[in-house]
This record gives sequence, C-alpha cells and structure tokens, in this order.
Amino acid sequence: MPILHHALRLGPLENNTYLIACEATRETAVVDVGFEPGSVIREIRRHDLRVRYLLNTHAHYDHVAGMREVQHEFGGEYWLHPADRPLLAILSEQGAAFGFPPADPPEDPHDLSDGQRLPLGEVSLAVIHTPGHSPGGVCFHLERDLWAGDTLFAGSVGRTDLPGGSFSQLARAIRTRLFPLGDALRVHTGHGPETTIGEERRHNPLVGVEVHLA
Ligand SMILES: [Zn+2]
Ligand SMILES: [Zn+2]
Repeated sequence: MPILHHALRLGPLENNTYLIACEATRETAVVDVGFEPGSVIREIRRHDLRVRYLLNTHAHYDHVAGMREVQHEFGGEYWLHPADRPLLAILSEQGAAFGFPPADPPEDPHDLSDGQRLPLGEVSLAVIHTPGHSPGGVCFHLERDLWAGDTLFAGSVGRTDLPGGSFSQLARAIRTRLFPLGDALRVHTGHGPETTIGEERRHNPLVGVEVHLA
C-alpha cells in the first residue's frame, strides 16, 4: 500500500522529524517535532496532508518541544507511551539542562501500548515498546519501514545515561523485538542517517551479533 514519507532534519541536534501519510487518503502521522515547527507546518501544507496523529517515539525535549505548535495549527491526536509521561511533565526542565528555552507539551495525551495498531487511512502503524533509552520509548512499524526514535541509530544506539535509561533493557529490546522483523527493514532514526536492520544486526558495535568476529 503506497505511503508518502517525508523526512526533515531540524535543529541544533539534527533531529529527524517524519511525516508518514497514506497516499490514497492523505491521512498523516507526524513523528517527533523537537525544533523548527514552522518548517514542519510548511511541509505539511506544501504536500496538502491531513494530520491525524502527532506521535512521539519518546518524551525527550528534542523530540517533543515543537509538537504543540503543529497541533495548534492542524489539530490531531497526540500519542505517547505512558511510561514517558513523567518526562513530559518536566519538558521545560529537560530543555533548561541543555540550554534550550521553555516549552509546553502538546494537549490531551493518549496512551500508546505495545502491539497497538494506529489506523492511518488504508494502512496502519504498529507500536513496539522498546524501553531502554527512556522507559516509554517506542518504535512505529509499517510494512518495510520502522521509525525508531533514539532506540537504534546507524552504528550506535540511544544514550542510556539519562534518568530512566538502561543499556541492558535497550539491548534486549533491540535484539528481541527489532532484529526479528527482518534484515530488509529500513530504519528511520531519531538522529542521523537511516539504516537497515540487517546492517545493524550484523555490524552495530553495541548490539550487533557479528562484531566480535571481524
Ligand atoms: Zn532521546
Ligand atoms: Zn534525541
């Protein structure tokens, strides 16, 4: 089923914001807006998309701070895993720790849960709970694509030294929940370039299975 997929790299930490749209209906999920919400709003208008969801892979400031402005512009249901609500509640404090301005979270959060499916036009996004970078970290899966937030990066994983982080939890989630999805799956990361499950399963120096054979 065709989808439209737009990636924008925005802000001082090079966060990736994603627009996932059903081509037939133009129903759209906006994933992670940390910085430059005006650019995201312009992109949504340019492609004439209909925002149904605002989805967070997790509640770190650099993924959330711009969501409210997009929500005010277009409406849309805001969804987050409940284990990250404590982080959402201290959004401005999180930002201040990195020298960023105060921000209000989006309104009326809905709770994501593992295994849930979010209907999007003629397709649906599956929710996979992958805690470890933060307690409520999730990935969104649709056919041959995965939007992974800060769970998995090209050649790395999300940091686990922030409150609520756990490397062993993160490694387990990646190995038991993401690797079985198949090597061909494209991984759209929260920062930096995209990758594939096969590339990371084989060569990721932190969680890969063949790194000690080289
Ligand atoms: Zn993060
Ligand atoms: Zn991040």
